[in-house]
Amino acid sequence: MSQNRPDTSAGNDVVVLLRNVHKSFANLEVLKGISFEVKRGEVTVLIGPSGSGKSTALRCVDRLETISQGQIDVCGHNLTAPDLDLRKLRLDVGIVFQSYNLFPHLTVAENIMLSPRTVKKLPKQQAVELAKHCLAQVGLSEKFDSYPEQLSGGQQQRAAIARSLAMQPKVMLFDEVTSALDPQLTGEVLRVIERLADDGMTMVMVTHEMNFARRIADQVVFMHQGKVWETGPGSMLDSPATPELQAFLAHEL
Ligand code: ADP
Ligand code: MG
Repeated sequence: MSQNRPDTSAGNDVVVLLRNVHKSFANLEVLKGISFEVKRGEVTVLIGPSGSGKSTALRCVDRLETISQGQIDVCGHNLTAPDLDLRKLRLDVGIVFQSYNLFPHLTVAENIMLSPRTVKKLPKQQAVELAKHCLAQVGLSEKFDSYPEQLSGGQQQRAAIARSLAMQPKVMLFDEVTSALDPQLTGEVLRVIERLADDGMTMVMVTHEMNFARRIADQVVFMHQGKVWETGPGSMLDSPATPELQAFLAHEL
């Protein structure tokens, strides 16, 4: 855990809870009863081989996928309740993917202000201030008026993170956000994420960056064949209990 992370032990509320979650696509059972919890201000890192169900698990947390069985609670929303308010859920959850999906015809600032303006009806001047603040958070203050194509891949991904931050989510989900980037650009994006963690953002992140995971994770969840195979602190990566995690780590490093 980072040294300068605010102490959140006083209010150890669970922000994300998955209990015995099953998810199938047609006849293929992809999640076979997974359970884990994410506490406020903590970083959970999901690791595991390709196809083990990491992305599906994240997508279930934002209700981009519905589950076949089990329970998911996110920021007080019961995701299987018939009266779930999807709009309110999505206000609480920010999600960033490998592909940035910035609108090419809008400037960086316009991309960031779009949802606060349209969804939250934020007045123009406040939206401008918010965009400036969020761009500063990701170290891109000077790119306010730039268009996405004028940015490097790492800068575009940081702009996408700023866009998500502008909605002031209570929890952020990151799915392999550096996988398309070369090592130098990967580093600058990871530093932004680490700073967010230090500032106390609750997050769940899928990554193949094992050194980063070891450093930043309060909790590591190793998924294998649709199950949570092993859970523990970042140091778990130095002493895997199962042969499957051992094999995975040997393959990753
Ligand atoms: P990971 O992110 O760990 O690589 P995924 O969650 O993307 O794994 O995928 C887990 C399994 O679910 C894979 O076998 C994948 O092919 C399958 N899968 C994912 N999404 C769909 C979908 N929309 N329809 C059918 N199968 C899917
Ligand atoms: Mg994936």
